[in-house]
Amino acid sequence: MRIACPYCGERSLDEYLYSGDATVRRPDFASPTAQADFVKYVYERKNSPGQHRELWYHAAGCHAWLVVTRDVSTHIITAVEPAKDVALGTASSMKDTA
Ligand SMILES: [Zn+2]
Repeated sequence: MRIACPYCGERSLDEYLYSGDATVRRPDFASPTAQADFVKYVYERKNSPGQHRELWYHAAGCHAWLVVTRDVSTHIITAVEPAKDVALGTASSMKDTA
């Protein structure tokens, strides 16, 4: 599998570190249900087929955090976006890669 970093171009998977689901949000530690919320946040994940949005770190490249949209059944990547753009709501699909 190869990932097209928006800054470095297409690179081997060996240059990246997978960091998990990009759609989950860290719970509020001050919430009265914080303990249960953190258990769910850390341990309860769906493992469904199809497209996932994943957080990847370009460790051997530009050190950027990226949100990769990938079909976990076929490994086809349909979008690679800088995580900061996703967080700021300014992201758009940048690359199509197989
Ligand atoms: Zn990069």
